[in-house]
Amino acid sequence: MEEEQRRRPGPAHAMLFPFPCAGHINPTLRLAELLHARGVYVTFVNTEHNHARLRRGGRGRGDQGSFRFEAVPDGLSDEDRAAPDSTVRLYLSLRRSCGAPLVALARRLGGGEVPPVTCVVVSGLVSFALDAAEEIGVPAFVLWGTSACGFLGTLRLRELRQRGYTPLKDESWLTNGYLDTPIDWIAGMPPVRLGDISSFVRTLDPHCFALRVEEGEANSCARARGVILNTFERLEPDVLAALRDEFPRVYTIGPLSGAAATTHQHLSLWEEDAECVSWLDAQAPGSVLYVSFGSLAVLSAAQAEELAWGLAATRRPFLWAVRPGLVAGARGGADALPEGALAAAVGRCFVAEWCAQEQVLRHRAVGGFLTHSGWNSTAESIRAGVPMLCWPGFADQYINCRYACEEWGVGIRLDEALRRDRVAARVEELMGDSDAAREMRRRAAAWKAAAEAATAPGGSSRDSLAGLVEELRWLGL
Ligand code: UDP
Repeated sequence: MEEEQRRRPGPAHAMLFPFPCAGHINPTLRLAELLHARGVYVTFVNTEHNHARLRRGGRGRGDQGSFRFEAVPDGLSDEDRAAPDSTVRLYLSLRRSCGAPLVALARRLGGGEVPPVTCVVVSGLVSFALDAAEEIGVPAFVLWGTSACGFLGTLRLRELRQRGYTPLKDESWLTNGYLDTPIDWIAGMPPVRLGDISSFVRTLDPHCFALRVEEGEANSCARARGVILNTFERLEPDVLAALRDEFPRVYTIGPLSGAAATTHQHLSLWEEDAECVSWLDAQAPGSVLYVSFGSLAVLSAAQAEELAWGLAATRRPFLWAVRPGLVAGARGGADALPEGALAAAVGRCFVAEWCAQEQVLRHRAVGGFLTHSGWNSTAESIRAGVPMLCWPGFADQYINCRYACEEWGVGIRLDEALRRDRVAARVEELMGDSDAAREMRRRAAAWKAAAEAATAPGGSSRDSLAGLVEELRWLGL
């Protein structure tokens, strides 16, 4: 103890390594900025492939004093990259090829002007980097990029499997109401439908790769010194209390969107369409529905058609981010959508490939968000006070949707099977002038204020971040 008191915190050097996709890179970058702004030396590690993409776009600048970018190979071939299961291949390839380069990088960084790496911060899906941290001899933290409820749901996949809820017995269980089975035994969660917990319970395969990966990755967080979540205390108090029974250090530092330090905020893997913001400038306040399904979701041509015709039928303005590959096999932008539907909406729609989403959500013209309920998108929407039309399809998106609609009261669920008339009706429910729609807008504004308060001085996320920085500084001894 006396020894402890005599010692003083040294320079902290955090090496951050996210899984290389937008949903992981964005929050990790925000965290990196916040740490750097508080005096932590930061090394942000991309894969070489992404590093080259960022450089081609003039983004992702190199070393900037005590904030540096480095890169390690991801081991993927061009063929892997073009494959429909490229994310799975990427996951496996990183596990195979990235550990040793990360260790070598950390060792190389420790010389000369640069203080030695004192901790490693990884996002989810790269648990192999916990081994790398062990080899380097420093503690690791995991920035688990989902909501706290998404994290808890994923942690419980193992028990769901052990209790026989999943895998499903046959195909008919997907549609016979089985997924509505109430699950009321997860401490920290209100009763939820089985199907709400995660997309991975929908499998028929007892060896389902995705289920095992998610389960294993979430549980490996127990090996980390701390878990960092992009949420705030008031949003998910019961879930956080339950998580704290399992993990000694849970830092809630969100929402990371809108975080003050933004030195590197334009580090985007895609070119952002600036024109969409000028288009928004010309729209009436609260009139526009923003539509985006994140960086990974894929729609069939038939689904895109139903959505496009549904949106056209609303007679409301909409801005749709259609990245290359969002519609299976199609290029990005308007080319991917049915011409007739866009013609029907001409003058009141804008199709971009990729938007500066946080800026779009904060724009006064945006009054609703049709989203796949990815956690970053959901948190960004909460932070911006924009109600959501939720159409989840993968991983934690179902539980985010469940909480947005039923716990936080800021969302409406769009029917799973897309039909143009239902799309139009739900958009009207969200954007219209009914008492329910106005009440949802009021709640969205209240959550926005709560999110602002959490990240303001004296707020819970600000305090939690200070605690994390303090912890990192002591590791620098
Ligand atoms: N995003 C963006 N521009 C777009 C679409 C998405 O900047 O046109 C960003 C969005 O702000 C979010 C991330 O991409 O930070 C998507 O993450 P999310 O967790 O919502 O979904 P995922 O891509 O992981 O499915």
